[in-house]
This record gives sequence, structure tokens and C-alpha cells, in this order.
Amino acid sequence: MSRLEKVHVKKGDQVLVLSGKDRGKKGKVLRSFPAEGKVLVEGINMVKKHTRRKQRVEGGIQDQPAPMVSSNLMVICPACKAPTRLGRMQLKDGTRVRACKKCGENIDK
Ligand SMILES: [Zn+2]
Repeated sequence: MSRLEKVHVKKGDQVLVLSGKDRGKKGKVLRSFPAEGKVLVEGINMVKKHTRRKQRVEGGIQDQPAPMVSSNLMVICPACKAPTRLGRMQLKDGTRVRACKKCGENIDK
């Protein structure tokens, strides 16, 4: 694996949390931070954050997702709907994509 593949999940992936307080929960990846090996997942790893008062939003304490380690996540295959390990495959044009190890589907479509 190259450095760039340290984070195996990408923005838009549905993921399952494997450990920690959110174990068993599912969510959508909002952002990835490859340099830290972390991702931000919708509704997962929520923390209380103090926010400044903005134009229309009240200041105060809000729940926000915090980045979490991507190795605690498993991608849910959009084709077979199962949490799966990812393999790699090469398309005819040479593009390398991620593939579901269960059904073999290209999940980077
Ligand atoms: Zn699959």
C-alpha cells in the first residue's frame, strides 16, 4: 500500500463503525484527512463543541462529528449492501479503483 491509500474510505462512502462508543453504527463519510489517517463521518463520534455566534446561528454548545481513525471503519458495499473489505482492480483504461471483496463490484463508480 502506498501512503495515499492509508485512508481506504472516501467521501460519500457508507461505513460501519467497528469499535468504540459508536460501534455498530452506520454513517456517511463527509470528509477524509489522509495525512492523519482520519475521516469525518456523519452522526458518528459526536462531540460537544462550543461555537461562536454566527449570522443566524445561535452561539453555544452544539453536537458535531469529530474526525476518527479510518481503521475503525468498514465500507458498506453499495452493490451487495454488506460491510466488506476492499480490494483493488484495474479498469480497461488503466484506472485503479476499489472493489468489493465479496461481490467484486467496482465501488468507485
Ligand atoms: Zn459487494
